[in-house]
Amino acid sequence: MLSSQRSNQVLQVENLTVSFDGFKAVDNLSLQVERNELRVIIGPNGAGKTTLLDMICGKTRPTSGRVLFEGQDLTRMNEYRIVRTGVGRKFQTPSVYEDLTVFENLEISFPRMHGLFQSLTFKRTPDIVQRIQEMAEQIFLADRLGHRAGQLSHGQKQWLEIGMLLMQEPKLLLLDEPVAGMSPREREQTGDLLSRLAAGRSVVVIEHDMDFVKRIAHKVTVLHQGKLLSEGSAAEVQADPRVIDVYLGH
Ligand code: ADP
Ligand code: MG
Repeated sequence: MLSSQRSNQVLQVENLTVSFDGFKAVDNLSLQVERNELRVIIGPNGAGKTTLLDMICGKTRPTSGRVLFEGQDLTRMNEYRIVRTGVGRKFQTPSVYEDLTVFENLEISFPRMHGLFQSLTFKRTPDIVQRIQEMAEQIFLADRLGHRAGQLSHGQKQWLEIGMLLMQEPKLLLLDEPVAGMSPREREQTGDLLSRLAAGRSVVVIEHDMDFVKRIAHKVTVLHQGKLLSEGSAAEVQADPRVIDVYLGH
């Protein structure tokens, strides 16, 4: 029982702490994410949500504690190796190559290519082209493949960046406020996309919009002042007096 529970846990955050000049942005935090789980992390501004993702993806080193991904300690790896191990991270602002087309943006994200230069000398094979077309369909950009990324709406850029991450087939996808700035329709589509993605991998999403959270979350973790305040279904955490207190207090 115990071992099967363990093997089902893709991500284990153990007693994670990071201190910036004595201020603990994340404070002795532990949580576990399962295979094919869609976890949403909420919490007031400054709760430590982004800092948590920074530590999982190796951008920030914890002061103490560990992050295990499929049993491997990510806190001992550099960012590049963490990506290779199967962790994809999307930051809050979309970073796509504005002057390249949607197709080219997806193409340079294909794992066999390690940069812009190699991508320009890289030979396109039919299976890569097909994979890019399938990806574009998944991220609602099938009719935009030839458009420059700079011409896309903010929401479409967010989708493109998710697609670029997916080209590397991450087993754990970390998304920081992916629907910020999206229209209601785009939010709905993104909700569907994330739910589909979680069928094949684990997804951790930071989000504020509780309607969106309720629609997509398998489980919600609430952070406050770097600590775990509450955890459970969206309905459970919304009914938790500690959560209500923190949100009304803001
Ligand atoms: P959230 O994403 O939940 O809004 P953050 O993780 O961005 O919160 O920030 C948590 C707290 O840590 C904030 O008070 C922020 O100012 C502080 N913080 C984050 N990164 C740094 C840093 N590199 N140096 C100093 N303080 C930081
Ligand atoms: Mg943040």
